[in-house]
Amino acid sequence: MKAHDGMYIDGAWRPAAGQDVIEVVNPADEQVLATVPAGTAADVDAAVRAARAALPGWAATPPAERAARLTALRDVLDARRDEIATTVTAELGAPLKFSQAVHAAVPIAVAGSYAELAGTYAFEEKVGNSTVYHEPIGVVGAITPWNYPLHQIVAKAAPALAAGCTIVVKPAENTPLVAQLFAEAVHEAGVPAGVFNLVTGLGPVAGQALAEHPGVDLVSFTGSTAVGRRIAAVAGAAVKKVALELGGKSANVVLPDADLTKAVNVGVANVMSNSGQTCSAWTRMLVHRDQYDEAVELAAQAAAKYGERIGPVVSARQQERVLGYIEKGVAEGARLVAGGPQAPREKGYFVSPTVFADVAPDMTIAQEEIFGPVLSILRYEDEEDALRIANGTVYGLAGAVWAADEERAVAFARRMDTGQVDINGGRFNPLAPFGGYKQSGVGRELGAHGLAEYLQTKSLQF
Ligand code: NAP
Ligand code: MG
Repeated sequence: MKAHDGMYIDGAWRPAAGQDVIEVVNPADEQVLATVPAGTAADVDAAVRAARAALPGWAATPPAERAARLTALRDVLDARRDEIATTVTAELGAPLKFSQAVHAAVPIAVAGSYAELAGTYAFEEKVGNSTVYHEPIGVVGAITPWNYPLHQIVAKAAPALAAGCTIVVKPAENTPLVAQLFAEAVHEAGVPAGVFNLVTGLGPVAGQALAEHPGVDLVSFTGSTAVGRRIAAVAGAAVKKVALELGGKSANVVLPDADLTKAVNVGVANVMSNSGQTCSAWTRMLVHRDQYDEAVELAAQAAAKYGERIGPVVSARQQERVLGYIEKGVAEGARLVAGGPQAPREKGYFVSPTVFADVAPDMTIAQEEIFGPVLSILRYEDEEDALRIANGTVYGLAGAVWAADEERAVAFARRMDTGQVDINGGRFNPLAPFGGYKQSGVGRELGAHGLAEYLQTKSLQF
């Protein structure tokens, strides 16, 4: 795909205000793929003004017409799914099969779900002697990460457009190409000028300008807890609404009567897919002491098999960070049973699928988000102990529970301080609310709950 050298603002590609560019690097071979403009506060300001100007018209557009534009957008994305997959593979490094099955397919499904919701959602309801209108919150400033680069954009842009909001997106610096492709798709779908705008750039420059802009009514951020905390502080001071999807350190709890082989194999695949760069990954596997050694052996075998299929991590910086955590795990006394801190190839930002056994709950690798292909296996004594360990981090984004008896798994899941739990390998549901407890975030994305984030209520009494 050819990179644009401008910003998509007010329905056209316009020259950037400054001269600086960002180099986009293929993490599999370290070659520069393209450059995109590094936006400044002036670009952000132009984009927010365009979004503001387009807001009254789009907010007043009947939901059925907004639904029609979203259906067209879904169709364009579907028609361009191969291009989406190759673009994500080039700039993120994900294996092409994974890009096709996940990085392209999930955003198409999510766009389709909002096309449908826009047409069916009750934007008006009766409550006693009141009529309650669910109105768009206004101009959205969206700041997104690189790990699921198109999904993260669609999970904000689609509900925003369905709600009648207008939006400015600042994508991650590492993955701006699929963001530009998305802007092209929005254009092709006939979404009116100014409703969707894209400013590429660096977080502390363009991202910060967007979060601080007085013309933004809602800041929707997905990324690290450290940056999210700063954005929430800026938004709080300006009394703006903020939605945060942050980090995770989720637990995969294997109860004693579970199918151990399945639980371990699915658990390893969950951590290694996308090279471990999944905020909701089950990076801590909790196993009963009687099955511990068997689980460790199974996990080591599964990780070794995964080694041939894994892509690189996104950048040299990320590789360094992940290898640093692996060294820290060794230094703190955890036992390496697969992978390790040596980069497995000379070229490309690869990390070997790594499994640690004998991990204590308070070790750094069991507390901090690594965001790489690293699994920690922890031993528990009984269910109460497992629950204490599962809930014993500052995060609460996701999790898994395995048990022969589904009711037992559900009872355990209900006691976990986390936003979503997969029972015995339950499938991803793009309509279920996604978001975190504790420091994993504020607000929910996807489905009707995700749409509600972009609405505010007005009550009229009769
Ligand atoms: P990050 O550094 O927080 O970046 C996320 C986004 O924020 C990027 O667009 C980034 O721009 C921008 N940004 C950075 N500093 C900023 C600032 N001072 N003001 C405004 N924007 C700023 O996170 P990352 O390293 O790219 O992504 C990995 C993290 O995201 C992990 O912690 C992961 O758990 C989290 N994540 C969470 C979810 C979820 O749904 N909960 C999903 C995916 C990822 P640059 O690209 O220029 O840095
Ligand atoms: Mg960053």
